[in-house]
Amino acid sequence: MPADAIVGINWGDEGKGRMVDLLTEDHDIVIRYQGGGNAGHTVINGYGKFALHLLPSGIFRPNVTNVLGNGVALDPQSLAEEIEEVRSKGVHIGPDNLMISDRASLLMPWHKDLDGLEEQRLADRKYGSTKQGIAPFYSDKARKKTVLAGELFYPGRLRAHLADILEWEDLVLTKIYGTKPYSMEDLEKWLADSCEKIKPYIRDTGTYLREADKAGKRLLFEAQLGSLRDLDLGIVPYTTSSNTTAAYAPVGAGCPSVKLDSVLGVVKAYSTCVGEGPFVCEMSGREADELREAGAEYGAKTGRPRRVGPLDIPATRYGVRLQAATELALTKLDVLSYMKKIPVCAAYSLDGERTEDFPFPAALEDASPVIEYMEGWGCDISKIRRWEDLPQAARRYVEYIEKACGCPISWISVGPERESIIRRPSCAE
Ligand code: GDP
Repeated sequence: MPADAIVGINWGDEGKGRMVDLLTEDHDIVIRYQGGGNAGHTVINGYGKFALHLLPSGIFRPNVTNVLGNGVALDPQSLAEEIEEVRSKGVHIGPDNLMISDRASLLMPWHKDLDGLEEQRLADRKYGSTKQGIAPFYSDKARKKTVLAGELFYPGRLRAHLADILEWEDLVLTKIYGTKPYSMEDLEKWLADSCEKIKPYIRDTGTYLREADKAGKRLLFEAQLGSLRDLDLGIVPYTTSSNTTAAYAPVGAGCPSVKLDSVLGVVKAYSTCVGEGPFVCEMSGREADELREAGAEYGAKTGRPRRVGPLDIPATRYGVRLQAATELALTKLDVLSYMKKIPVCAAYSLDGERTEDFPFPAALEDASPVIEYMEGWGCDISKIRRWEDLPQAARRYVEYIEKACGCPISWISVGPERESIIRRPSCAE
């Protein structure tokens, strides 16, 4: 039975949340396989408007089981708060529709502190962290200085393990950053206040997923952030600290035997980027302000104004390849309706030469955009629901992207609501 992934093609914030929310209708299980509470997947549906941080976007569908895999950065405190918040809007969340992998590592109370302290130390060289503790968490996971969620069921061994980790972590906090240490009492409070609340959801989700796959259940893997933030293949060091690519999904979900049948890459009709790092196609001044306002481009988690630019073809083509996308969803096409001419970053100029390829990270700072213009459509398209009803200029824009990226665009979204979507006829089943 199908196992599908929904992933971001660019820098993140492409609108993955709304696509997962839409496609969960055809799936039984939605799995988050990497990243942590630094996500902000916006979902608008009958329950209201949500910015989901850690909860999978299938949480609103009554027949969908949601899984947090071993690859996520599991912050018990933030997750417990998010569960309460979403539940307060009338959404059912219980161990029957939310499961946490016993192999997920726990984001510890000091990880957020360390994130802030390191960004402070870096000052104007900072990486643009959301300060949710993600980089310190994954570093500690790699050097085995954190605990697995399943250890909460072994209280004796857990205490001994925590005491070991605390000894190391306090050295880092006091000797490297000159700040105050944590104590075992702090950890007891954290265990009682936050970890106890998530304990009912913890189980062996790897076995659950493998068996569900064998039984023919339909799985949907939900990524956080985009291709260019992938720890190995993205714009290092301005990446996140985990793998955002679809190929990692079965590993981060704990079911490596599951084979992906399709990968839906989500691309925004223009470019946005939160935080630091090279962003070759970046616009400035009034042109940028207009696009930011038209697209309401402010971070869902941080409220930070997003950097904006025209659609970046070299970056998008690279992202499509990294994700091995089998089809694309183009979001926010409606936002471009105000433009008479639509700029596109068709290529880069590097060392005086035009290049179609996305350069090595260190060379990105020297690249400049080659901008070309396409005809705008100049009318509201947000009520359109059929491909053939889109203005010809809008269809040409979609076809241009499809050709440039070598991947079919099967969905086009023209508004944030669940129903504001166009399914391309050639791609419909
Ligand atoms: P994600 O993290 O990839 O899910 O993306 P975000 O939630 O950070 O950003 C997407 C934003 O665009 C959200 O505010 C969505 O409600 C909004 N959005 C998604 N699709 C569309 C669309 O087609 N048109 C408009 N105008 N807004 C959209």
